[in-house]
Amino acid sequence: MTLTPLALPTTADPTAWLAFLDARGRRSLDEAERLTSALRALSDGDTAALEAWNELGIVLANASAVGSLVSQVHPDAGVREDAEKIETEVHAFRTRLMLDTEVYARLASLEGADLDAALPTGAGRVLADALRGFRRSGVDRDDATRETLRALSERENDLSQAFSRNIRDGATSTRVPATALAGLPADYVEAHPAAEDGTVEITTGYPDTHPFMAFSTDRDARRAVMTTFLNLAWPANDQVLADLLAVREEMARTLGYSGWPDFDAEVKMIGSGDAIASFVEKVATDAVDSAERDAALLTERARIDHPDLERLDVADARHYSETVRRERFQVDAQQTRTYFDFTRVRQGLLDVTGRLFGITYTPVPDAVSWHDEVTVYDVSLDETGETLGRIHLDLHPRAGKYNHAAQFDLVPGVLDRQLPEGVLVCNFGRGLMEHSEVVTLFHEFGHLLHHTLAGRHPWVRFSGVATEWDFVEAPSQMLEEWAWDHGVLATFATDADGEAIPAELVERMREAEEFGKGIYARTQMYYAAISYYLHEQRPDDLTARVAELSEQYAVSRRLPDTHFHCGFGHLGGYTSGYYTYMWSLVIAKDLFSAFDPADLFAPDVARRYRDTVLAAGGSDDAAVLVERFLGRPYDNAAFTAWLES
Ligand SMILES: [Zn+2]
Repeated sequence: MTLTPLALPTTADPTAWLAFLDARGRRSLDEAERLTSALRALSDGDTAALEAWNELGIVLANASAVGSLVSQVHPDAGVREDAEKIETEVHAFRTRLMLDTEVYARLASLEGADLDAALPTGAGRVLADALRGFRRSGVDRDDATRETLRALSERENDLSQAFSRNIRDGATSTRVPATALAGLPADYVEAHPAAEDGTVEITTGYPDTHPFMAFSTDRDARRAVMTTFLNLAWPANDQVLADLLAVREEMARTLGYSGWPDFDAEVKMIGSGDAIASFVEKVATDAVDSAERDAALLTERARIDHPDLERLDVADARHYSETVRRERFQVDAQQTRTYFDFTRVRQGLLDVTGRLFGITYTPVPDAVSWHDEVTVYDVSLDETGETLGRIHLDLHPRAGKYNHAAQFDLVPGVLDRQLPEGVLVCNFGRGLMEHSEVVTLFHEFGHLLHHTLAGRHPWVRFSGVATEWDFVEAPSQMLEEWAWDHGVLATFATDADGEAIPAELVERMREAEEFGKGIYARTQMYYAAISYYLHEQRPDDLTARVAELSEQYAVSRRLPDTHFHCGFGHLGGYTSGYYTYMWSLVIAKDLFSAFDPADLFAPDVARRYRDTVLAAGGSDDAAVLVERFLGRPYDNAAFTAWLES
């Protein structure tokens, strides 16, 4: 069946977009209301209930996708606001739906029935997933318990928002002597003019704090800036977090779990709270040698400046990592960026992934969207010529736009129903790029490919990036490897004279990147331990427990009188699961071990990966997909070897 892409408004005009949001968002919600009533009215045991559930999933996903995308990218503030309202309405609809005892009863009546005879493959998995979701929201409890859970869930949401809001609104700054800017890039110095008293202001925003910590040679100033940064949202968030941890635990216990981490991990690959503790311990132990080796180098270098230094603290660590990288590996960011012209990089990315996965990107120059800098391509499969979906690349900054890098859905693909469409939203300059930005582009494009390639399932539940949450980063982390390979980079990274990036420069860039990976792994495990143990143990004194975890896991000494947990925003969204990024990386390294590092374009393995892992979406557990690709269960051998190399 030939499917056509979603028709977007033909101009960026706010009126046209408000009408579009109404049609795609609010009318989808009306449709969802109608589908819910029809589902309730079915007889028990009627498999049409599962089909209706799928329809409901499609209209809700469509509404939610336009809401969340448009609220982040449309140039008009009124349109963004309306899109945000749609997001909220969809969220409220879902919450009500998951506590709807009638809908639950119709679906629960199908348990044990032979669904695969009457419905497309995977029906049993869709049903099991839906019922688990209902039970996790407490739909099968008595009225009083449901009311308790509803109130707890609301309170959790409020506290979680307050936690983020305090971090956002708590942004502050430190005044340091203007001389502390020695060592910082010229544009940074220019953006920080000295006041009459000879001081400059360094805010707690990343673009201000990070370069300062890396480059400032003034140790006292670094300590002052870092102390301010690590006291973000303190003391306000100390109590908010304590309340949040208590509410989460009560929710989990009311639902019959031993605590929040067990509840949260149930729907992840890791499976249980105990497994998080073991994972953190294992990675931290595996990283000891590598971390100690690199920390010794940093300490040795720091002692040239400070002969009496005993142990690095967090105000030294970043600075000396940067110093050692620069001095040992001589990677000059000014030189490397001459090879990464934005337009050539974008084309290079398409050529590389097209060749790798056997797909073609056809530009759609007359496609319209929310901004004329967005480029649109249709994606087709080389073997058959079929259209797989459409991608939109919105890669430059502008006022009012989302300011990180992420992939957004526009349409979830459904077999014979709707073509998948995805959007990359990034903020790269229009001229030369840093190599780290090229890596980010490959990473985010990995999510976009996953969304597009997994867009041909009859069940929307399996569509796109629909695997367990602690797996979703793995395909993107693996695709980053291509941005570090000289053979790959040489196909598009050429300077103004057309000279390809030299192999020895890529080699030095890699060495510089790999330096400090043990320290990085231990730092990540320190964060993961905070996220897990604060939820699992709910200590009375959060600061004291975080200080203990710092001694146990972190490589550098923490600064006195700091309260990192108050500004650790990921405790809001990741809750007890901050381990996931490293968990995905372990699997990414294992997946990559199937490729030949000397020939990253070898077609067979890449196509097999495309079909078994990416195109499968959420149709099986991630562990099963990975095993199907590797021919064995995943393990951490490749990751450990990488840490030790
Ligand atoms: Zn990602």
